[in-house]
Amino acid sequence: MSTRMVIRPDSTPLKCEICGQTALHVARLVTEGGGEIGQTVVCTSCRHRRRVDNER
Ligand SMILES: [Zn+2]
Repeated sequence: MSTRMVIRPDSTPLKCEICGQTALHVARLVTEGGGEIGQTVVCTSCRHRRRVDNER
């Protein structure tokens, strides 16, 4: 099973703590079937990513 990351269009870029660029985006993790299984933040500059838990 493969998942893909879909960067939210309404995402506000955050500052990446690794490279210092304001390029951290919130992305949804989506399966092939279209189900959302979680969220991650990914830096489009240095490709650093980390998982975020769904907390309300
Ligand atoms: Zn970065």
